[in-house]
Amino acid sequence: MLTDAPPRKLNLAGFRESDRRTALDLPDDGRLPGIAKSIESAMKAEAIASVRRACADFLKDVSPFYGVPDCSVRVLAARPLRVHEHWKTELFGDYDPEVMLIRVWMRTAVRKEVSAFGAILSTLCHEFCHHLDYKKFAFAGSRHTRGFYERAVLHHHARGSPPKRLFWVPMPGGRWRIDWQKTNRGAS
Ligand SMILES: [Zn+2]
Repeated sequence: MLTDAPPRKLNLAGFRESDRRTALDLPDDGRLPGIAKSIESAMKAEAIASVRRACADFLKDVSPFYGVPDCSVRVLAARPLRVHEHWKTELFGDYDPEVMLIRVWMRTAVRKEVSAFGAILSTLCHEFCHHLDYKKFAFAGSRHTRGFYERAVLHHHARGSPPKRLFWVPMPGGRWRIDWQKTNRGAS
């Protein structure tokens, strides 16, 4: 995982602020892991309508906690061929701030049954963090900073897995990549 390069001037302050904000409050009512489980069973059944419903439940549950408007979700069988210019597109999903819509797609994920659920859930949380950037923090452009990836701990919370401390390696152009060896080892 690699961060975006800092912008030259425009939005640089917001980029730095996003980079510094590494913490995210997490809901402690214990409902998210239950919803995550229903995403998991829907994935196992490959029931796309149920996956969508469970993802929508997830968003409906977390949005009020963060004080952001609810955002919609669409679950697609495969990655769309054409992507609108202001969509943030990742391997398994995207988010459009204009219409507050998250899309996740299942096809690549469904093949590897074990990792499928993790991929959908982490994509959902990742895209929701873009939603938070736009609607809560007002981080223009919602860039992938170190802080952004740290805030995506929401995913671990929902899975009930302990969050990992991320270790970063500087890259050319002011970018950073995660040192997975160190991160997975939990070294200090
Ligand atoms: Zn992203």
